[in-house]
Order: sequence, then C-alpha cells, then structure tokens
Amino acid sequence: MSTDSHLSGLTGTVIHDAVVPARAPWLHHIDAGQTLRIVDLEGNQAVDFLLYAAADDAERYSAQDTVAAQGNLFLREGTTLLSNEGRPMMTIAATSVEYHDTIGGACSCRSNTLRYGHHTKAEHACVENFLEANLMEGRGKRDIVSNINFFMNVPVEPDGSLGIVDGISAPGLTVDLRAEMDVIVVVSNCPQVNNPCNGFNPTPVRMIVAA
Ligand SMILES: [Zn+2]
Repeated sequence: MSTDSHLSGLTGTVIHDAVVPARAPWLHHIDAGQTLRIVDLEGNQAVDFLLYAAADDAERYSAQDTVAAQGNLFLREGTTLLSNEGRPMMTIAATSVEYHDTIGGACSCRSNTLRYGHHTKAEHACVENFLEANLMEGRGKRDIVSNINFFMNVPVEPDGSLGIVDGISAPGLTVDLRAEMDVIVVVSNCPQVNNPCNGFNPTPVRMIVAA
C-alpha cells in the first residue's frame, strides 16, 4: 500500500515520475488516455505550460478557443483544453485548486526589464525555459504561443483589469490532465521573483504520468 499522498486518487500505473527543480524547464510526450498529475510541492508555484499535438506540432493549445468554447476565463475541473484547430487536447479531470490562469502569459527577460528594471536582465525567465526545452525538438520562437499558468492566480476585476496576486494554491495541491490526443507537454517551472506569482520564492514541482 502506497504511503505517497501525492498519488492519492490517481488511477492506473505510474509510468513517469519526476521532480522539476525550481526555475527549470520540462518536456514530455504523453499519449492519449494517459493522465499527467502536476503536484505543487511547496505551494503557490506557477507552472507555465504549453501543449502541442504530437502528430503535427503546428497544432497547439489555444487559450482563445478554450475560453470562447467554455464561456469563462478560468480553467477549472472539467475544462477541455482546445487546440487552434478546435480539437480537444487534454481535459482537466480533477484539481484541488479552484481555478487556473490562461491569460497572464509567460514571463521573459525582456518583459522583466521593462516591468522591473534593467537589473533583472540576467534573471532566468519562462520564455527562455520554453525556448530551451523546445529546441530539443526543433521548435523556436514562432512556436511559443498562448500558455496556461497552473497554480497561478490572475483575478479579473469588474472593470476588466488583471491582477497577479498571491496564489490560491498550497503545498501538495494538484491538477490532473487527461490526454485526449497524443501530446507534447512543455513546462517552465516559473523563475519569477519580481511579483507574487511564486510567492517570491520559486520551488520544485512534481510531474507524475499514469497510464
Ligand atoms: Zn514565469
């Protein structure tokens, strides 16, 4: 009997189990029917997330198609992540965090210097992680499109303005994504230290794939 609480409620056999260090990228192929569980090990860690169809990576996650189809800005249990072809890529089968963001975008060295000053130029950022991971499979800048920020809290105010505020996640909370097609998942475990998206302290996350 397992005493690993991070596996609780996950059905099937674990075929991949990795800890992504703070600030690091991660890339993995996940077949249709498999489930990816992301564990926010220490809490309030933004997991920036891109998704490509394994059969043809010109098909990829589309925030606007996903938001339009469900008529809501937030990603919750039951949300289907749609591609730019309008096809289901993954479904949020379960999540112990109320909602996740898909409008806040990904941090980059350039946006950091613009927002927070030139002294942040040397800080690592999500766009650079995405580029590093995607390079292994021949993808480049033009392949970086709208992303998801799991465990990140971007509330939308009544006037439509966005906030990046303290998270609503906590240590050990999870999101389960069931693949609806063969997909390539590319993650940046967000290195941001200039706003509260990681509680000013980037921490590791755990990726578990069950088949
Ligand atoms: Zn980031």
